[in-house]
Amino acid sequence: MKLTPVHLVFQNESFQNHEQIVFCSDPASGLKAIIAVHSTRLGPAMGGTRMWPYASEAAALQDVLRLSHGMTYKNALAGINFGGGKAVILGDPKSDKTPAALRAFAGYVDRLSGTYITAEDVGISVADVEEMRKVTPHVRGIAEGGAGDPSPNTAFGVYKGMEAAVRHRLGAQSLGGVRVAVQGLGHVGMALGELLNEAGASLVVSDINEARVSDAVDRFGAEAVAPEEAHIASVDVLAPCALGAGLNETTIPEINAVVIAGAANNQLATPADGERLRERGILYAPDYAINAGGVISIAHEGPRFDFALMRRDVARIGETLSSIFVRADEEEKPTSVVADMIAEERLSAAKPRILG
Ligand code: NAD
Repeated sequence: MKLTPVHLVFQNESFQNHEQIVFCSDPASGLKAIIAVHSTRLGPAMGGTRMWPYASEAAALQDVLRLSHGMTYKNALAGINFGGGKAVILGDPKSDKTPAALRAFAGYVDRLSGTYITAEDVGISVADVEEMRKVTPHVRGIAEGGAGDPSPNTAFGVYKGMEAAVRHRLGAQSLGGVRVAVQGLGHVGMALGELLNEAGASLVVSDINEARVSDAVDRFGAEAVAPEEAHIASVDVLAPCALGAGLNETTIPEINAVVIAGAANNQLATPADGERLRERGILYAPDYAINAGGVISIAHEGPRFDFALMRRDVARIGETLSSIFVRADEEEKPTSVVADMIAEERLSAAKPRILG
């Protein structure tokens, strides 16, 4: 087989000077996993474990390299003292996920002695993290004695970020009377819908799951639109809470909202889409800044976990976003670029941790 850059590690196109990459295998349980520690500059590398039926080992490697690098930026911008890391388990969560494989994986996390701290992600639930907890203390997001499911905290952070965005763009002091389209009514989207409804916002909703749409229509008096029409709804705010890459060359010219503030990861299809939104006068709340509520909540976990303190820090997402918006205006740059600049400044101000 001819090796190309996607098969290599140090020359991989997604390799960004990662500190440590661990390939894990346990034939007895069938586990195959990769843990990537991108940076411990700000503290132990923290990021969830994703379980996914990757088409190839190269695809899994690229994903874990890319995601762990993203966590370094997300944690830095969130102001928490954690570095960036991520893990992937290669396999189908529906058929390959067994307690034995989860425990074997947790054994590898344990061997890193706290350099990497894991949590839930796509394909890995709170119950799975609790299974891992039997083997290693280096997990977060457990129900008992911890912050539990991060989704309600992610939704709360998106809500505070949306408040900051409408204040900046529309001069509105609250979300009362603001028209918001929530695209995706899963764990985060539905919780966000509840908060918006309580605040008196007027809701437009969409999901590919019709039962969730009917539920939101009944509970919030929301107007339903087809999934492919959510981005063109006549609203003030578009809240992408489903999949990534929804903001692209095709959709951006069609958007009627003047604010984009939602939980979905990797909303911009390409970095150029940040500039496309700026040119159209659409205020974009950078995804990894506004959706950091979950990671902030799990950063708080520990013996002295205090729910009110955690919520106070999640609410600060609004202040972080306000400073991004002001600087983006001053420097005439896309908000996505300014978010990266602030994260990089925090990273370069920290002393590197000495290994060994
Ligand atoms: P989820 O799987 O619970 O919900 C996603 C919802 O989107 C589902 O109801 C699904 O049916 C719907 N959907 C899928 N395709 C759609 C489409 N084309 N149009 C409309 N709806 C569609 O996921 P979640 O935990 O609510 O997370 C939502 C997004 O936020 C994801 O991108 C996730 O990566 C991101 N995120 C979540 C958290 C968290 O704490 N859960 C934290 C940070 C980021």
